[in-house]
Amino acid sequence: MTTTAPAAPVFPLRRSTSPASDEARAAALAEPGFGRYFTDHMARVSWDAERGWHDHRVEPYGPLTLDPATSVLHYGQEVFEGLKAYRHADGSVWAFRPRENARRLRESARRLALPELPESDFVAAVEALVRADAPWVPAGDEASLYVRPFLFASEPFVGVRASRRAELVVIASPAGPYFPRGLAPVSIWVSPDQHRAARGGTGAAKGGANYAASLAPQVDAAARGFDQVCYLDARTGSLLEEIGTMNVAVVRADGEVVTPPLGGTILAGVTRASLLRLLADAGHRVSERRLPLAEVVDGLRSGEVVEVLACGTAAVVTPVGRLAGDGFDLTVGDGSPGPLTAWARATLTDLQHGRAPDPYGWLH
Ligand code: PMP
Repeated sequence: MTTTAPAAPVFPLRRSTSPASDEARAAALAEPGFGRYFTDHMARVSWDAERGWHDHRVEPYGPLTLDPATSVLHYGQEVFEGLKAYRHADGSVWAFRPRENARRLRESARRLALPELPESDFVAAVEALVRADAPWVPAGDEASLYVRPFLFASEPFVGVRASRRAELVVIASPAGPYFPRGLAPVSIWVSPDQHRAARGGTGAAKGGANYAASLAPQVDAAARGFDQVCYLDARTGSLLEEIGTMNVAVVRADGEVVTPPLGGTILAGVTRASLLRLLADAGHRVSERRLPLAEVVDGLRSGEVVEVLACGTAAVVTPVGRLAGDGFDLTVGDGSPGPLTAWARATLTDLQHGRAPDPYGWLH
């Protein structure tokens, strides 16, 4: 028996009648920052319990009109994704591993009782938007178009139950470096008492509510003078989980790269998976295993831990220069980016930007 893959849906384009002027777009692309400017269009797909997914379309970027009773505003039933598109030297535009984000959005949606968008619809939505707004994809070493798909409960209904209507919207924003200081190391506060996720909870889902819960710890860390928060597991409070919106890894003096395993409480980063593959293929020993805070603190003191890095779509690969928490405040190495962190960042960004071949077929 043969089964044919469902045909990718068509996204008819209703063009904006008031797109940004060439000058305004050029100004935004010259200094995009992160998440400040948005392109001229957005892709949308609607869902309801009767019709399923319908009304695939690209329309002018603009405000969403929501009934005050809309479910997401009350119960936070929302999930999202983040991926990037890159302009290569020949002008072509490539998205990095969009199918991985499509799959993760489905998994997140399942945990939040939202409908699962078929992966081909997700990829087609990203493609349709990036095609419509291709002039917004910046060129340049550190630049990209950040694509933000999000899916929310859109039924106007007050009452705690899964929404019978949902809306997928995809917006895009030109991006420069996430950390304006570039490869400059970041400082991390290890939160001793505020946790991000517990076993059986929603930590592995990319739901907006997880990020709402992370804001107060982030404010506390910033008040202490740190860039980001590192979370420990909620059960024992002794194992490293992840950093803000990034996965974490440490490099040991013997060359082993260690990152915490995916156990349901951390997000399965696409960058994390890609780096593990690149490192393994380059002959590094990579271990996905429990990473006790004590091992990292003792290792930093003794010199057995030589690098700490954080990785994610927005920040790519970022060195951690300082790690502090209850009773410790340590400089990682000499505080400057370590060689493996720099290698990982260069190797991944060279592939993404088309400066190196893509033997994995990660570019779409
Ligand atoms: N952890 C969290 C909590 C995140 O929000 C992100 C960003 N999506 C990551 C890790 C890194 O994931 P990715 O590499 O897919 O961006």
